Amino acid sequence: MSIARILVVEDEEPLTELLRYNLESEGYSVESVGRGDEAELRLKEAPPDLVVLDWMLPGLSGIELCRRLRAQRDTQTLPVIMLTARGEEAERIRGLATGADDYIVKPFSVPEFLARVRALLRRSHPTRLATVLSFGDIELDRERKRVLRSGLELHLGPTEFRLLEFLMQNPGRVYSREQLLDSVWGRETYIDERTVDVHIGRLRRELNRSYKSDPIRTVRGSGYSFDERFGKDG
Ligand code: CA
Repeated sequence: MSIARILVVEDEEPLTELLRYNLESEGYSVESVGRGDEAELRLKEAPPDLVVLDWMLPGLSGIELCRRLRAQRDTQTLPVIMLTARGEEAERIRGLATGADDYIVKPFSVPEFLARVRALLRRSHPTRLATVLSFGDIELDRERKRVLRSGLELHLGPTEFRLLEFLMQNPGRVYSREQLLDSVWGRETYIDERTVDVHIGRLRRELNRSYKSDPIRTVRGSGYSFDERFGKDG
């Protein structure tokens, strides 16, 4: 299961909902905006792992937004799939140096769209789809649902496993308790944010049982992250 974050920038509401439904069914976390200028702001605040970008948008065109993304260091390599109408647009997009990684002509089939998303994520974020995530002496096997530390198996509950998996996908990134609840427990649950602290506590106890260094960082006032320097200090 991949938990890559995808931003859909599209002003046709029914299409946005169709894409959201199918992307979420694949296990991606999806956000959407209907205007190009809004998308630009959103991308500055929190860049996703992939952008699905419509060509014709109010506020700022998809083409212009894509150019701006490519001109900035933080978003230079952000994977972009451009959506375009059949005909002239498609011809132009082919001829232009848009900077998009891929483009798809409307109307398109959902399975084809999902295949393109998956292919692009595989190229840009191999760790999102990797079966085994490993940092330092920690190894997390997504298929076997197993975690090893220094070669010894740890006994994590299902929630602790998902928490660790989620944090290890984006080392260094700080997640608020609310974001962790949304991503690990799911958006439909109504759980107190302190629940996150309880499960982080359990995860830490099991991970660090033999007085080992703690890979999980508590960021006061913000949340938690997997330390990106973990296992790299020799
Ligand atoms: Ca449009």
